[in-house]
Amino acid sequence: MISIDDELHMPAIGLWMDALRPRTLCFISHAHSDHISVHARTIATKATAVLCRARLATRAATDYEVREFGESFECGDAHLTLLPAGHVLGSSQIAVRTEHTVTVYTGDFKLRAGRTHEPCEVPRCDTLVMECTYGRPHYRFPQRRVVEEQLVQRCSAALSRGITPVVYAYALGKAQEVIAALRAAGLPVMAFGAVARMCQVYESLGVSVGGYDEQGAEGSRRCVVVAPPSLRRTRELAALAPIYEIAVTGWAVDARARLRLGVDCALPLSDHADFDELLAYVRRAQPKQVYCLHGFPDFVHHLRRAGVKARWFEPNRQLALF
Ligand SMILES: [Zn+2]
Repeated sequence: MISIDDELHMPAIGLWMDALRPRTLCFISHAHSDHISVHARTIATKATAVLCRARLATRAATDYEVREFGESFECGDAHLTLLPAGHVLGSSQIAVRTEHTVTVYTGDFKLRAGRTHEPCEVPRCDTLVMECTYGRPHYRFPQRRVVEEQLVQRCSAALSRGITPVVYAYALGKAQEVIAALRAAGLPVMAFGAVARMCQVYESLGVSVGGYDEQGAEGSRRCVVVAPPSLRRTRELAALAPIYEIAVTGWAVDARARLRLGVDCALPLSDHADFDELLAYVRRAQPKQVYCLHGFPDFVHHLRRAGVKARWFEPNRQLALF
């Protein structure tokens, strides 16, 4: 049913999933750049379609077939349903039902609740194709509330010393979570570059991040600056010196992560499932077979030890994400 000759697809129904090469029919799970491309026909949620159009801009000739979460629709002999993945706004899993079997592809997901996106749903299935980015036991993230408190405390401390805190967060998803957490704590925020553009798209979709100023507004030295990692060491940020640089990423639990990332502080705020969430997902979905994508090949051994039939499916291309 599932094949990954070069990219993930279901030959029986001609459906590709998160393909990077142009395909005739593709499901796009969410609008991160390592999952999107221009296809002849694309199945996606409304938020993902809007975010893809904003990100692909001039290349956006794709014909989007927008589907609601929970809506059942046909594709060949199969019934398809999209389910929220809890990764970023609009992020979706896809369940493919045939007469005898249910296959689910998770895309990127997490089970923890976020402030600016739909909560993840876990369907029962026979075959599960899941992303396993943090599939090693030391990737256990603290409670979200605890990490957010640390973020607020570090930013407040910098501001009180007359230093501008700069939080590096990828522009779609992580940045909105960071801004919503900072605003809930009453801190002023300035959104730089692509972060502001993605916040505008969120707002056009009815999701508020709690208010922020845009780059260029007065008073940036009294705000927490939220910027994409691509702006590090640019003149725009150097102009704010002195700055206190914070990275928010699941890799922050690694020893020496702060030094490797070259920042003053690294906090483990992730939009992906940690090790325990990966196992919890599998326990709830109760699949007969799991195919693991991304992360570490040895995660399959952890599943096998838990009595689950598991296979590694692909070389990693996710580790490069900041
Ligand atoms: Zn993603």
